[in-house]
Amino acid sequence: MSDWREQVVGAVDRLEERLRDVAKDLFDHPEVKFEEVRASKRLAAELTEGGFDVELGVAGMETAIRAVHPAAGDGPTVAVLGEYDALPEIGHACGHNLIAAGGLGAALAVGSIKSELPGRLVFLGTPAEEGGGGKVLMIAAGLFEGVDAAIMFHPSTNTTIGRGSLAITEVKIEFHGKPSHASGSPEKGINALDAVIQTFNGINALRQHIVDGARIHGIISHGGVKPNIVPEYAAAEFYVRAPENDYRDELLDKLRKCAEGAALATGAKLEFGLVGHAYQAMRPNKVLGERFLKYLEASGIPYNPPKDKSMGSTDMGDVSQTVPGIHPYVQICEDDIAGHSREFAEASGSERGYVAMLAAAKAMAMTAVDVLAEPGLVKRIRDEFGAV
Ligand SMILES: [Zn+2]
Repeated sequence: MSDWREQVVGAVDRLEERLRDVAKDLFDHPEVKFEEVRASKRLAAELTEGGFDVELGVAGMETAIRAVHPAAGDGPTVAVLGEYDALPEIGHACGHNLIAAGGLGAALAVGSIKSELPGRLVFLGTPAEEGGGGKVLMIAAGLFEGVDAAIMFHPSTNTTIGRGSLAITEVKIEFHGKPSHASGSPEKGINALDAVIQTFNGINALRQHIVDGARIHGIISHGGVKPNIVPEYAAAEFYVRAPENDYRDELLDKLRKCAEGAALATGAKLEFGLVGHAYQAMRPNKVLGERFLKYLEASGIPYNPPKDKSMGSTDMGDVSQTVPGIHPYVQICEDDIAGHSREFAEASGSERGYVAMLAAAKAMAMTAVDVLAEPGLVKRIRDEFGAV
């Protein structure tokens, strides 16, 4: 097997120029969620050239990819994942161009020796991680059925394997009041904006009593029309996040009560809606993660975990609750830089970013080879996954 590992490392080395070009191409042409037309076409073309049977446009998404290697035998199924959506205005400030190129590199490298290996190899191109939940839709469409290991990496300000992600739900709160002249006849009005403000106040009071690591953050998306009209309609949007799915649901209930209390106090009518995306908390598989880290270090990127424990949310959380999976972080810049910033975007198109992407491609390829070919490894992965 060490021979196979050497072969996939060699394959990534030979692919280096192409992978750098893919990463740069996506970086130079950022596309937001569900609009990743250029990126998905480029990846589909590369996978087709690499001998995969490629479907572009799966799970009801024009830009989702399923690419299956034709050399399929008995044994485990490995899925290598690639994200490629960018953020509005600030481009690849989450480094998904590197995720796509790294995942592609791992898939092509393992594909180059797949006829010698048992099992099945799949590349899944997953659109709209940033608020669209492409992976959630792909799970619903059955694309993760039978997958024994889902492997991806994410660029970051540190290198770590164990960091989870927060469960998240997006909420929209609307209040309907009654317009009236704000000075001439304020007593005849019902102020919907006050209801929104009371909701914020209720949530701010709640904050002292929620577990560490949970987050509730919101904006007022509509606050009235003119100061001389009592606001008839006002609305706010919140993200509710927590380290556990159940606790997220508990917080959601508390947030609803804050809004109901505000409605009662002001007389405005409440509409409470779950909108947009809801992602589950991440459960990173340790057995898989440790393999990845060992091979990443061997590829020149040292382990460098962050000092704090802050987390975001991702639809890889849902994947990791459905099948064993990893979402390790690989450092591409110094750790005083924030994610989703212009500085992080710069790092995603930098030499350091490309070097990290190539090392991650090698580590993912070697991990995938182990899953396919090492007797007993899938059982250990599955045992950990089953032990909740
Ligand atoms: Zn991201």
